Amino acid sequence: MTQLQRPFNFSAGPAALPEEVLQTAAAEMLDWHGSGLGVMEMSHRGAEFIAIYEKAERDLRTLLAVPSDYRILFMQGGGIGENAIVPLNLSRGAAVDFVLTGSWSQKSHKEAGKYAHSQIAASAEASGFTAIPDPATWQVNQKAAYLHICSNETIHGVEFQELPDLKALGADIPLVIDCSSHIASRTIDWSRVGLAFAGAQKNLGPAGLTIVIVREDLIGHALPICPSAFNYELVAKNDSMYNTPPTWGIYVAGLVFDWVLRQQEGSLTGLAAIEARNIRQASRLYDFLDASSFYQNRVQPAARSRMNIPFFLTDESRNAEFLAGAKARGLLQLKGHKSVGGMRASLYNAMSDAGVEALIAYLQEFEKTSA
Ligand SMILES: *Cc1c(COP(=O)(O)O)cnc(C)c1O
Repeated sequence: MTQLQRPFNFSAGPAALPEEVLQTAAAEMLDWHGSGLGVMEMSHRGAEFIAIYEKAERDLRTLLAVPSDYRILFMQGGGIGENAIVPLNLSRGAAVDFVLTGSWSQKSHKEAGKYAHSQIAASAEASGFTAIPDPATWQVNQKAAYLHICSNETIHGVEFQELPDLKALGADIPLVIDCSSHIASRTIDWSRVGLAFAGAQKNLGPAGLTIVIVREDLIGHALPICPSAFNYELVAKNDSMYNTPPTWGIYVAGLVFDWVLRQQEGSLTGLAAIEARNIRQASRLYDFLDASSFYQNRVQPAARSRMNIPFFLTDESRNAEFLAGAKARGLLQLKGHKSVGGMRASLYNAMSDAGVEALIAYLQEFEKTSA
């Protein structure tokens, strides 16, 4: 297949996928491994798809070092669906706690309020969501069914560099993390996590697949009003096939898991290689932005996301001109989220060093035209 010269895509999601994955999916579109069928046309109960599903599950478990007492569920409904599905399954009539660090945790807190008494243990709203409140200051409700955080705030560009240890805060309750926009970019300390969920369309594959990784003892307590298709117990008992799972999404995510596992950076492989690459690329961009008086990132350094980097031009009247020039150079989807404004560069796993260098070269060039 011919190699296309593709632009660099900085979209926050749905987002860039590794070119190699797209090539494989394209090559197998009409005939997966000699089956005579494309993956979208297969029965989810047939041997071919079961093989695809089992490899994807196994590779994700390896990649994220998921312990054996956690189930991996392939669901639908997206991150926003999980904002309801988590309280429907985990709240058991108790209160639920939230730490607000940006738009996504705010949304989750609001939605949970439909199904449970939804409380705020800490909030960074006063800082304009440019920081993460020190866990030592959180007012954790020890009787809450769980505490929810968004471990990477896609819109505000705020990321937990370390997951909170709720036991050390005196609360023996499960931690729920919405890791939609940084899953598979770094390791997860499962000793601190009861449930992790992620929509696939940021770092893993096409929209429509939602990954839920949940400790077994948290399964089986759904509220009676929980829809069957979203009841973790039914989904787990049926190996994610209680209803038809998003087969195409599972297949493409499986190709991405395989790709991540094969990545190398010096002596590092797999997730460690990806993480090293992400750290290098994000540091490169933050260092450039910090050294410039023309561009600005407002997030406290300790809370800065490796994945989503919002920034502003000092002269915001030039935003449209900046974006048009970027597009002309093949640097796509740099416009910031409307609630924050400015620009945002998302450097997900599929971003190459060349893409980051091309962006920085353009930032320098644009700054010069304003001298
Ligand atoms: C994108 C995103 C979501 C929403 O996912 P949907 O698939 O649109 O429901 C939720 N949480 C975070 C952190 C996200 O980045």
